[in-house]
Amino acid sequence: MPQTKTKDDSFKFAAMVAEKQGWKLNPDAEFLDIIIEGLTKNNNRYGYFSCPCRLASGSKNSDRDIICPCAYSRPDILEYGHCYCGLYLSENFFSSGRVPSSIKERRPY
Ligand code: SF4
Repeated sequence: MPQTKTKDDSFKFAAMVAEKQGWKLNPDAEFLDIIIEGLTKNNNRYGYFSCPCRLASGSKNSDRDIICPCAYSRPDILEYGHCYCGLYLSENFFSSGRVPSSIKERRPY
């Protein structure tokens, strides 16, 4: 049985990741809530924070690259200023006030 997490737990996790990486959380509270809810549901379903914007297989090994913060978050934030979901933003992107848009999926399959 996966360890159940609340939305508050997931929010704290995301805030900690952002702090550690020097990123910002998306300032749109409604959008943030949807992403945090997705992370929470995925954790409680699969037992890990699978990306809320991608389809998980349910196998931790196959999903390893899409466990938040995913393997693509760094290059995406460097190139576009935000991760694929738009949960994490670079400081610059955040300060610009721009809104994350749809970006190319970096996952190779
Ligand atoms: S795209 Fe963003 S929210 Fe999704 S796993 Fe990567 S870092 Fe997390």
